[in-house]
Amino acid sequence: MLVAGNWKMFKGPSETSGFLAAFEAPAGVDVVVCPPCVSLAAAVGNGVPVYAQNVHWAAEGAFTGEVSAAMLVELGVDGAVVGHSERRQLFGETDDTVARRAEAGLAAGLGVIACVGETEAEREAGETEAVLTRQVAAVPRHERLVIAYEPVWAIGTGRTATPEIAQEAHALIRSLHPTLVLYGGSVKPENAAELMTLPDVGGALVGGASLDPASFRAICEAAAAAAAAA
Ligand code: PEP
Repeated sequence: MLVAGNWKMFKGPSETSGFLAAFEAPAGVDVVVCPPCVSLAAAVGNGVPVYAQNVHWAAEGAFTGEVSAAMLVELGVDGAVVGHSERRQLFGETDDTVARRAEAGLAAGLGVIACVGETEAEREAGETEAVLTRQVAAVPRHERLVIAYEPVWAIGTGRTATPEIAQEAHALIRSLHPTLVLYGGSVKPENAAELMTLPDVGGALVGGASLDPASFRAICEAAAAAAAAA
């Protein structure tokens, strides 16, 4: 079980230090936090592994606004998220760039969380299976790579996938790519236990509810309990 807190564009260095002073990961579950780039240095070395929210495929070069895997490694960062739906929808990320980012991170020794998920329009058009199959096919296979299934309509909306929807998608993804598959999309302390006990759910990628140490801790505890019961 892995629980990752995606802080998106929240928490500068001092808030990051404050969070980590107040947060203790429970035993029995792997926990990582994903602060914004400027807060990675403040996050490293506090007992919780740290993932960046993105990584570029080139070692260095004229790529304004990007950060390389080697730079993250130098900082002591443990991994990176790639292909988050906000990157895909707002910043033109494609299956190809997601694959290149993932490969560069893995080659540098980082862990990688690769995000996949269908939009509401795709689900309503009956395209969920085709979209997930296409997105998962682009994700490299590696022992340090995990996938996060994040239905786009459930991210930041308060609309969590039903257990049936989540389980069906996770089973499909794992049949295509046998690895840990995290669920993401409005995970909260109130729904974490139900989601974490689904057979093909291997943890959570948490946005909004990871910003508060107490609610993130409660989700991590639900994942630890699910792992202990499995
Ligand atoms: C996310 O950002 O990956 C996410 C799942 O956000 P939220 O938990 O806020 O829906």
